[in-house]
Amino acid sequence: MSDAALLRLLAALLSLALLLLAERRWPFQVLPAGRWWPNLGLAALSAGLVALLPLLSALVAAEWAADQHFGLLHWLRLPDWLALPLAFLALDAAVYAQHRAMHHWPLLWRLHQVHHADPALDVTSGLRFHPAEALVSAAYKAAVTALLGASPAAVLAFTLALNLGALFSHANLRLPAGAERRLRWLLVTPGMHRIHHSQRMDEQQRNYGFFSPWWDRAFGSYQAEPEGGEAALRIGLASEPPGASGLLRLLRLPFRADDGAPASDTMPATCKTPPDSKP
Ligand SMILES: [Zn+2]
Repeated sequence: MSDAALLRLLAALLSLALLLLAERRWPFQVLPAGRWWPNLGLAALSAGLVALLPLLSALVAAEWAADQHFGLLHWLRLPDWLALPLAFLALDAAVYAQHRAMHHWPLLWRLHQVHHADPALDVTSGLRFHPAEALVSAAYKAAVTALLGASPAAVLAFTLALNLGALFSHANLRLPAGAERRLRWLLVTPGMHRIHHSQRMDEQQRNYGFFSPWWDRAFGSYQAEPEGGEAALRIGLASEPPGASGLLRLLRLPFRADDGAPASDTMPATCKTPPDSKP
């Protein structure tokens, strides 16, 4: 295992352990049982599959771009102190765009719905992605990294931040109101991302960010509070009963024929309500 891969693994395990402790201390709600094994099973399958394909590694793409002097930031010959934050921001924007695409295109939604079928949220939800979505996501990030000419240091910093952001934003945490409000200018908070996991189609198309909230604010997809308040928020997919979340069922979910379920249950509808721009 490379030093970078080891660093990523240790950082992820440390973040996971700290967030699990925080969830016990400051839980947002009592969670239904039986979600961890399917979530962790999907995480292990996805990580294993991506690890088998080094060509899909963003770090390998960054090293190749540096060797070949390929990609926008190499062509612009920017100094490192400017190229690194620019690459970080551009990668974050690319992940925001990817998440919007996952909701917009029916084929990609088939994969991404597995993440949204979780009937509750905690840190393990941040690891729960169908292996096919993990492959698509890795290939996309590697391609963006090469085209951008992001340096290996920028990719490593962004990957660490994104992994931490994905775990934190799904955590079953209730933050103090003041901390929640201030943090939302810097990071996607659990209260913000929870709205994205609503069963309501209009709310699923809000708060796409995994790390920074800036792109949601810039592109009009930010929503501060659930319609009707947190008590009215229902997490998951209306088409997926809470008890139906075994690992095999989740692996098969993208390939299920539309079985007469309402289209709005399986596919995102065009968003019609205007975003709430309040912080
Ligand atoms: Zn989503």
